[in-house]
Parts: sequence; C-alpha cells; structure tokens
Amino acid sequence: MSKIILTGDRPTGRLHVGHYVGSLKRRVELQNSGEFDDIYIMIADAQALTDNADNPEKVRQNIVEVALDYLACGLDPAKSTILIQSMVPELTELSFYYMNLVTVSRLQRNPTVKSEIQMRNFETSIPVGFFTYPISQAADITAFKATTVPVGEDQMPMIEQTREIVHKFNAVYGDTLVEPEILLPDNKACLRLPGTDGKAKMSKSLGNCIYLADTDEDVRKKIMSMFTDPNHLRVEDPGEVEGNPVFIYLDAFGTKEHFEEFLPEYEGLDELKAHYKRGGLGDVKVKKFLNNVMQSVLAPIRERRKVWEKDIPAVYDILKEGSEKAEKVAAKTLAEVRAAMKINYFDDGALIREQAEKYK
Ligand code: ATP
Ligand code: MG
Repeated sequence: MSKIILTGDRPTGRLHVGHYVGSLKRRVELQNSGEFDDIYIMIADAQALTDNADNPEKVRQNIVEVALDYLACGLDPAKSTILIQSMVPELTELSFYYMNLVTVSRLQRNPTVKSEIQMRNFETSIPVGFFTYPISQAADITAFKATTVPVGEDQMPMIEQTREIVHKFNAVYGDTLVEPEILLPDNKACLRLPGTDGKAKMSKSLGNCIYLADTDEDVRKKIMSMFTDPNHLRVEDPGEVEGNPVFIYLDAFGTKEHFEEFLPEYEGLDELKAHYKRGGLGDVKVKKFLNNVMQSVLAPIRERRKVWEKDIPAVYDILKEGSEKAEKVAAKTLAEVRAAMKINYFDDGALIREQAEKYK
C-alpha cells in the first residue's frame, strides 16, 4: 500500500514555533526521507472560516503567510503538494456524505472542539460549520487516502473521529477509504508547546507566540520576558523546571551542539536543570541561552522566508499547481465514494439495464 501524508494548518495567522516542533519540522524530515509516495500539505482556509466567517480578509491575507512559512521551513513543492482547501471542492462533498455517519452527541464529546468552543466564547451560538469541522477534517484526510497524519497532540480526537468515519463507511458501503495513523512528535515537550505566557498551548488565537517570521529582536524580547517559575525570585532560590516554559522550550529545541556552542560549562540540559532546581542559577542566564538556541534554529528559516517574500507571484503559482494536482486525486476518491454509496447513476450501466428490463 502507498504511504501518503496529509496534514495542514489554518490560515488564521503566521505559523509559530509550536507549529514548527509540533508538526512542521517532522513534515520536512518525512518529506526528505523519501519514504512517502505522496505528501499533501493543506492550508485549511475553509476550516478557518468556520470560526472566522465575518473576517474573510484575515483568512485571505494569511494564506500566503502560511505558504511562506512552509517554504521557509524547507517544504519543497517538488516533493510535497501544497494546496488550498477551498480550491478542492470535492472535500466539501465528501464532508456532506460523512455527516450521515456521525451523531451530534459524538461530536459533542470531542474534547478539542469542547475546549475550543469555550476559548472562543461561543456558548450557545456555535456555528454549525465549526461544530462539524472534525467531519470536514476526515474528508481532507481520506480524500488523499492518507496513511499518516503528522500533527500535534490537540489533533488526536480529530484523527480518532476520522478513523471511526472510515470504519463506518467501509462497513456500510464496502472497503473504500483508508484508515489513517496519527504521527505525534517523539519529544514530549513538542506535543503541545506552551505559550510564552505559560498557558498550556502556544496558539495564534491567544497571542502568546514566537512566530517563525519574528525578527531576531522580537524573539529576544519575547524570550527575555517569558513566564518562568513565579517562586524563583532570587538567583539563589531553588527553582522548578517542571511546567516552566523556558525549560520546556529547551527540551523542545535545545541540542548537545547548542550546549557546546553557547553554554560549554554545562554538559547538557540535565545538568542545567539540576543547577536550577538546587538554586544559584538565574532566569536571565537560562533565557539568554534559550535566546541563542532559538536564534540559531530560526535564522535559516527567516533567511529562506526573505527570499520567497520577494517572489509572491511564484508562491501563488505553487499553491495553484498544488491545488490542481490535489483536486484530481480528490476527484478520483470522490468517484469511488459515490460508486460505493450507489449515487453514481449515470455511470451505472447495470442499474440502467436492470430498470429497463423491469419495464419491458
Ligand atoms: P488556531 O488557534 O487558529 O486553531 P493553532 O495555533 O492551534 O491555530 P492550527 O492551524 O490549528 O494552529 O494547528 C496546526 C498544526 O499545528 C496542528 O498539527 C496542531 O496540532 C499543531 N500545533 C498547533 N499549536 C501547537 C503547539 N502549541 N504545540 C504543538 N503543536 C501545535
Ligand atoms: Mg488549532
């Protein structure tokens, strides 16, 4: 069986370092591994509109920002198909059919959707499109027969929902769809990177992000004012590293080479953490090290982004080509779905003959 990746992002803002460690970095590694037959990277504009219906300009403006972040991180249009969700209308039709296979109460149980509804203060005015976005995500994944979905931890319930839809569809209509596997980051710190404010998730909607496109000065300022252990007041105080975002970021981004280059007096992160826990290590020193680490991760991304920023029409060409290629693949799956669901009347010679026979 082919190995196919589908994953993507909502164009609700530029991408941040949480996206990078949660999914983007892995995508680029997988792309370059040569192990996959096809890779689809989707800019989920239709999904972004489910909670931004009154702000289409925001979504429209951010499509190119997300595309620039992709190219900056090393996604290569020669190896990965980058597409815009709404340019593949087959996805909408698939969603419509999948809706019949999911109950309202099942959607209500989705923990990610629940917390997102709370975060957006939707209360009783939840847009139906937002409520059902896990179904549309199942359409996105299955349209390309994806086997592998590299995402952050918050996406677990979506992949679970997709697998249920695939099961149900195949059980009712016969084997048609492929059940995808989630691929989470190996590194625990990358599953759900916290915000610079210490909140559980760095998120475009919360304004607690370090963006891939931030200038070095922006990054430095954000790091120097990051939330740490609130009880670590004086240098000599013992500090907490668990749940301390500065140390979580070091877990996520720091390497042995970073220690050799920027902090050679420590063997590695374990020794730095031990010192912080014992007391005698100030936040400023740790933050300065983190800043060096982040700058060295982000500098090449920033440089590549600047090159692509000079050729925006070329970026749109990549999106157009990718969307066209993706549409062909989705159309093929949709035809199979229609046949399985017995709604391919005009292609169904047997049906026409049988009914003609009946009225002879
Ligand atoms: P929004 O607030 O608009 O939902 P977001 O920041 O959550 O934006 P998405 O576009 O919803 O970003 O998510 C894109 C991908 O990035 C998903 O695979 C998601 O799991 C991953 N991701 C998002 N935020 C983080 C994070 N803080 N840590 C790890 N992965 C993340
Ligand atoms: Mg999200």
